[in-house]
Parts: sequence; structure tokens; C-alpha cells
Amino acid sequence: MANIVGIDLGTTFSALATLNAIGKPEIVPNADGERLTPSSIFFDEENSDIIRVGIEAINSRRLNAERSVRWIKRNMGDSQYHKRIDKKDWTPVELSSLILKKLKQDCSVGNDQIHDVVISVPAHFDEVRRKATMDAGTMAGLNVIGIVNEPVAAALYYATTREVSGKVLVYDLGGGTFDVTIMDVKGHRMDIVCSQGDHALGGVDFDQKILELLEQCYRDKFNSELISSGEDRAKYEDEAEDIKKTLSRRQVAKKLLYGPAGSMKVEITREMFEEAISSLMSRTDILVEVALEEAKLKPCEIDKVLLVGGSTRMPIVLQRLEKMFGSAPETAVNVDECVALGAALHAGLTMLREKSDALPAGVSNGLKDINLTDVCNHSYGTICAPIDEKTGKRVIENRIILRKNTPLPCESSQMFYTLSEGQTDLEVTITQGEDTAVEYVNKIATHKFKLPPNRPADRPIKVTYIYDVNQRMHCRFEDVESGKVLEVDLCLDQKNEMSESDVKGKNKKLKSFKVE
Ligand code: AMP
Repeated sequence: MANIVGIDLGTTFSALATLNAIGKPEIVPNADGERLTPSSIFFDEENSDIIRVGIEAINSRRLNAERSVRWIKRNMGDSQYHKRIDKKDWTPVELSSLILKKLKQDCSVGNDQIHDVVISVPAHFDEVRRKATMDAGTMAGLNVIGIVNEPVAAALYYATTREVSGKVLVYDLGGGTFDVTIMDVKGHRMDIVCSQGDHALGGVDFDQKILELLEQCYRDKFNSELISSGEDRAKYEDEAEDIKKTLSRRQVAKKLLYGPAGSMKVEITREMFEEAISSLMSRTDILVEVALEEAKLKPCEIDKVLLVGGSTRMPIVLQRLEKMFGSAPETAVNVDECVALGAALHAGLTMLREKSDALPAGVSNGLKDINLTDVCNHSYGTICAPIDEKTGKRVIENRIILRKNTPLPCESSQMFYTLSEGQTDLEVTITQGEDTAVEYVNKIATHKFKLPPNRPADRPIKVTYIYDVNQRMHCRFEDVESGKVLEVDLCLDQKNEMSESDVKGKNKKLKSFKVE
């Protein structure tokens, strides 16, 4: 049977799910029989070709922190980030591909080799991060047939397993990222309205606050630092996470701290913790408010709040949401697994749309009533130089072509004009952002477009942006007079990013490393 697979590539944990014979998603356990695999990597000291991923990597980290990598999703798309191991610089894409390779390896059983997958990403991930995630999949030897936003995947799973109707707000607070998505659900029909998020706000930040409390307690008692090495830090980061989880069940958590100046017992109360994370929680409140504003809804107009992500187990999350929305959030779905399960459903829907012949009849039947409309999560534009009506002078500005929250698939065109007589070079820039000021938008790709010679100024250039249901964007720049076209496919070729052939080349190189 064709494997139809969804992968939740999380900051702290990853999971893989597949559709069964009747189109229902199921988690596939890893080689240790665990449903979640820690997104942790450790480079073996004795054999540099062996890379450990998962629980073993977490355990090894305490012995040699230098050779370990965690939370790599936070650096996804960051061209400056490298982890240097044995004279090789590992990029976030390569490191993420090791996690994906481990999942592929562990979950491919017998003839059921995993190939076509949908990988989930935070809703607010920009094009660079989305592309980096797809590249990581390709490098791991997977065929990434689509990308799905995490809250959308969670809601897809939720709405197909329960009776839901009305406006649903998905509150997704995971290990490293926060997303809030508002959607309109009528049975199996789901329309995404808008999303907001922060790619650097999640469980690891809460752990950090506890670590700071521990360090302060030690300093107060001994006037000395608790942590003096990477290994100490690794140990106390784990202790901090443990304390955080205990505080989700109890009012007080106790620990023994062993530092260079002696040992001491500490007690961290839930109150101390909640005070320490209050500014982080306020950031989530603000993003919820912005999403409500964007959707033009009041809190009382939200019918259900759906919780996703391990950090929503903190009692403070429930309290704040209950206060804001007047009723308790929905806690019925497994907050750790629903993204992977929804991503598998999304993979099934993608196959149904694009390769329905390859789907077994039971799976097609199970999926046929599901109808999902996503939106584009950012505004996309281009830089142009129109004449200011007041001053009569040219001004450089960002002109939006595709607006944020437009339902997918979508297409939009605008006409621009060449600036000077005989102009043969046109630099085209694709931007992401809401502002007209160029300094406040992200320039995600720049290309040179060669134009025919010997022409007057003001020749029309038609710019068309197309965003497909798989979250892939295509841009088309057409010189109307000559019919010459520049096509830019943001998933294949992008500034500062690898081209497809590079990705395949790197895939070959990574094959020499053994992932365990
Ligand atoms: P996810 O990215 O959804 O897998 O969430 C992982 C994050 O959830 C990690 O930062 C965990 O520490 C956190 N987490 C899991 N269980 C709990 C809990 N009981 N209380 C607080 N945080 C938790």
C-alpha cells in the first residue's frame, strides 16, 4: 500500500503519522516503540560517521554538550547559523534532515518505505523557513508533496474526529514556537481565517526562566555560579524542564543543586514560575488579540478554543484563556500528536487532489468529504518606483500583490512600467510583509530580468504571484510587448538558499553518515 505520511518536525519532539486503510491517521512508533522522537542530535565521539538522533542524543548530551544539538527549528532559515563538528559546519537544514532521516528509517517497515510526505511548519514561518524545511525533507531522501501549517493540521484532525461547528481558535504553544489560528468550521468544511505567531516563544523559554531562578537561588546562598560548563548547563536545562512539568501538576517543585561551592535544596513554587514567565505569556495574549482583530471577531464570538502543543499543559494557559473567552478550552485531542495526525490527513488530501489513482479506495472514501481552505499567511509584493503625486518625484516603495489571509489557491497580477529609455536590466525583488516602506519588509528573492534593447521608457511589465494549496509560491514577470517571461518558483530557487540540485548533491554527501 502507498504510504501516506505526515510529519510533525517539532522544536523539542517530532512525530510521524500515516493513514490506515480507511483513511484514519495513526501515529507510527519509532524504533524504541515511542510515539514521539526527541528532536535532538548527538555526534558520536568515537565514530564520527555515526549520528544519534532521539532519546540517546538527549542522554549523551549530558556527557558531551559540545557534540549535541537541540532546538534546531529555532534556527531554520538562518544562513548565519552553523554547528561545527569535526571540522564540518552543519547548517540548520542539514541538521533537520538528520531528524527526518531518523523518522524515515524508524518508521519504514518492510515494503512500506516512506517516500511521499507532508511536513508541518508553524503558521507564521516565512518563505525562507518553509523552503528550508522542504529542503531538509529532500535531503533526508523524502519527497515532500506539501507543507501544512501546524495549527491547520491540528484543527484538521480535531474537526474530522469530533462534532465541531463555528469559529474555532487554535492556540498552539509548543516547545519553541507559538501560533494562533482562527478558522471557520462547518462539519468537515474548514476555512482558515487568519494566523499570527512568534517563532521564538515556547517551552524552551519557560525552561530558561526556571534555570534563571535556580541560578539566582544558588548565587544568593553561595555567592557563586551554579553552572560552569556546557555539561552542567545541559543537566540543569533538563532539571528546569522537569520542574516546569511538575509545576503543571503541583504547587511546589523541589530539587537539589550541586554546584562548585556546595549543594543546596531549592523550592520553586508555581507562583514564582508564573511571575517569571508573565512577560512571555503577555506576548501570547497580544498575538491572540491581533488575530481576533484581523478576523474582526470579539472573544465572545469564538465558539471553541482548541489547545495544541505540550506547553498548553501549564495551568496558567487554561486560566488565561478561560478568562479571555469565558469558557474552558477544548482539551479533548492529544496535544502532542494531533499535528502529525493532521499532517497525515493533509498528505491524504494532497494525494486525493493530485494523484488520486495512487490512493486505495478505502482511503479516498475516508477523505472525500473533507474540505479545507487555507489562506496565505503573509502579504507578498515587489519593490517599485512610482511617481509621487505631490512632489512629482520617484519614490521607492513596496507594492503588495498578494494580500495576507487571501484564501488558497490564489493568483493576483499588477502592471508596472520600466523607468528609462533603453532600459535592458530590471532588478525584480519579491517581498514579504505588510508595509509600503521597503525597510520594513523582508526581501525574499532578487532576480535580474533582461529586457529587449532600444525601447522607450514606460514599457509594461506584468507581475503575477500565484500561491498554491501546497503553500508554494510562483512568481511571473512578463515583459508584455516582447512576451519574454521570468519565472521564479520560490521553492526551487531563492536568494541565500540552496537550489534544488544543491539539495540533491548534499543528500548524496549525507548518505555517508549513519543515523541511529
Ligand atoms: P511540543 O512542541 O508540542 O512537543 O511541546 C513540547 C514542549 O511542551 C516542551 O517544551 C515541553 O517541556 C512542554 N511540556 C510537555 N509537557 C508539559 C507539562 N506537563 N507542563 C508544561 N510543559 C510541558
